[in-house]
Amino acid sequence: MTLTVQPHRESVGLKAGQLLIDGSWGPSESGATWTHHHPATGEEVGEFAKATAADVDAAVAAARKAFDSGNWSRSRAGVRIGLLHRYAELLRKHADELRALQALDNSVPLSFGGIYATSVGAAADVFDHHAGWVDKLGGQTLPPYQGGDHLAMTFREPIGVVAAILPWNAPFLLFAQKVAPALAAGCTIVLKPSEYCTFSVLRMVELLVEAGLPEGVLSVVTGTGEEVGEALINHPDVDKVSFTGSRAVGKRIVEASAGTLKRVSLELGGKSPAVVFADAPNVGVAAATVVGAVTMGLSGQACVANTRALVHRDVYDEFLGAAQGMAAAVTYGDPFDPAVISAPLINERQLDRVLGYIEQGKSEGRLVTGGERLGGDLAGGNFVAPTIFADVANSATIAQEEIFGPVLAVVPFDDEDEAIALANDTEYGLGAGLFTADVQRAFRVTRALRAGTVGVNGFQIEPHLPFGGFKQSGLGREGGLSAIEAYTELKSVFMPL
Ligand code: NAD
Repeated sequence: MTLTVQPHRESVGLKAGQLLIDGSWGPSESGATWTHHHPATGEEVGEFAKATAADVDAAVAAARKAFDSGNWSRSRAGVRIGLLHRYAELLRKHADELRALQALDNSVPLSFGGIYATSVGAAADVFDHHAGWVDKLGGQTLPPYQGGDHLAMTFREPIGVVAAILPWNAPFLLFAQKVAPALAAGCTIVLKPSEYCTFSVLRMVELLVEAGLPEGVLSVVTGTGEEVGEALINHPDVDKVSFTGSRAVGKRIVEASAGTLKRVSLELGGKSPAVVFADAPNVGVAAATVVGAVTMGLSGQACVANTRALVHRDVYDEFLGAAQGMAAAVTYGDPFDPAVISAPLINERQLDRVLGYIEQGKSEGRLVTGGERLGGDLAGGNFVAPTIFADVANSATIAQEEIFGPVLAVVPFDDEDEAIALANDTEYGLGAGLFTADVQRAFRVTRALRAGTVGVNGFQIEPHLPFGGFKQSGLGREGGLSAIEAYTELKSVFMPL
């Protein structure tokens, strides 16, 4: 039976996507469109507007006008708090519809919506969380340094116009991690979704308008990175670029920001290690957690997935056996089928990249399972079998580069110092995991790991915990107070009395 998403497309009632500029929905200035093909079947899903540089100019001008008017940036705290909470409730109400749209966008299965970090509920929680900061974002009042009569104090002011650029893989959470703190701080936004995940983001924006967002405060320009993304990151009237995506594009954004010294936040890729010690509370659970993150839901297309397993030799064979069992249990197919737990790769370019790494892996390690594209009913999609390579040197390409696919490199180690050295031997520093029953070791190793987030015997992204990267995994943090502060400038005030 050939796999098809066509019936779901009809049941979801997918509309053609339009741009939102200054409060009005409409086509791009050129009338050009982009056709989205489903990653599981190759079928045409729908069309959305392909914005031009002129559309970006109009969206940035609207955001500037809205910011300068002060209607949002200097609004009563209650206006912003109310909107963010109302929107969180609307998201929860429309969770099923949004998950269905996501399945049409990127083929992430509906079953994966139950995993907190990628759920609509997590996005709603992020909006509720940031609503709480709106009236608490204070400065300091300092005693006069020189003595005498004067006041010294600081204020936090919204940064201005923000270009928010999203990747395709976790639209709900990543939309929320940018839009919620920027709106809470009083900024205005021009949002660019990924061309591989647009329809669910457009619906999120429609709901934001329904919640009462004033005109021009958030505009949406859809289209490609080369055209729309470049126009945004080079735009002289954008004050800050907030980007989540690949390291290569992150570096490009740093270059482009130099022109007007834009503020930049970057949430980039990783090659996160999971360190499994011989005293892990349960090696089977450790293996299931690691392999689950690399194969389930997003098929390893997750920034923080532990794609390098560093495993103590005493539990090495036990780990590999359990990992193989977990990989065998992963199911693929129609993302609307509740029995399906994993996704295809997002596009053919990514499929070719991942298959290239797998070929390279065959000479860099021992193939334990997988190692091929899936055929049969799945031949029309970009499906790759969960792939595990054992006995990989940490210096190998498959242990160093972000593959962004269902490929796990397993590296053996003998003692704690070696494990820490191997874990830190990477250009990235997004996440790290460790599995041990020894509390002191857990703290010792956590302190030594050069990563923005460390999971000890488990891991979860939380709305109030900062998330971001050391080293080449990014600049800045999303989540919690640090996120909203990143959408402000600090102003110091001196006043003689
Ligand atoms: P990508 O870098 O290819 O694209 C991300 C966004 O940037 C898209 O909207 C794209 O259109 C746009 N873009 C592309 N070229 C551009 C340019 N020259 N100028 C401006 N914008 C441009 O990434 P992707 O394939 O969508 O996502 C996968 C990457 O994202 C992985 O590296 C992953 O690790 C990373 N990621 C990081 C996090 C995090 O929180 N650290 C979360 C999710 C994904």
